[in-house]
Amino acid sequence: MPEMPELEVLKENLERLIVGKSIEDFRIIKPYIQKTLLPDDLIGERVAGVTRRGKYIEILLASYRIVVHLMLAGRFKIQPKEKEPLKSSAAFIEFDNDNTLHLVEDAKLKRMSMWILPKGKGTDDIKELGPEPLSEEFTIDRLVKLLSGSRERLKNFLLNQRNVAGIGNAYADEICWQAGLSPFKQANKLSADEVARLHGAIRKTLIEATAQTRRLTGKGIEINETRPFMAVHRRKGEPCPRCGTRVQWVSTTARDTFYCPRCQTEGRILKDGRTSRFLKGN
Ligand SMILES: [Zn+2]
Repeated sequence: MPEMPELEVLKENLERLIVGKSIEDFRIIKPYIQKTLLPDDLIGERVAGVTRRGKYIEILLASYRIVVHLMLAGRFKIQPKEKEPLKSSAAFIEFDNDNTLHLVEDAKLKRMSMWILPKGKGTDDIKELGPEPLSEEFTIDRLVKLLSGSRERLKNFLLNQRNVAGIGNAYADEICWQAGLSPFKQANKLSADEVARLHGAIRKTLIEATAQTRRLTGKGIEINETRPFMAVHRRKGEPCPRCGTRVQWVSTTARDTFYCPRCQTEGRILKDGRTSRFLKGN
């Protein structure tokens, strides 16, 4: 599932391809993708820009904005206009050059969504989002306030888009590791020093991952999501890059969490399941 770094690179590369182009045709192939009605006057609108807010990509037009959430496996694909739509195309936009932008979906569940909103209505109208983690407004003070108002575990705090926008399961693991904090630590119990470490870890992890993803992907819009640079996420049994201890894995309700016991949990191995005393006591 793409998170902030992958979506940031997607935004940059999509921008390069479609800004300045006019829409000649717009078709919905699979109705599930469509969360709003298709306006009649969309044809002829020119792309003014592409932005990202949290995990949403927004294509800005003169009178509308097209907002897309890729969820688990949605993708964008550019094809020459004369080519038949792909089997997995859920919608496509034909531009006044040779290109058609396809919104492609491979998943059966948690599929991608698209909203077409009048200009001025943005993603915050769809879902209330917390600050962008790499923006100036995301200060340590802001993080202190967000943490103190939360009764969540640290990993769940990071995953909650109302706290900070754009972080998912993979980068939440990496951020906790980078900060040297247990993913199950209670968010409102972090010390001042731990909050500062967390703030630095969020920024460092996301800045570095964005640079790496940019390098791995190149100029295309099929984003490289292999993430070979990750330290603990999906690295069970491999040595922690910081201390060499084997990375551990714990499964809770809906998610897998990866961590280094030496760097993050004072050597404790966390037990599976919600009733574990380690999870409760941590
Ligand atoms: Zn370690």
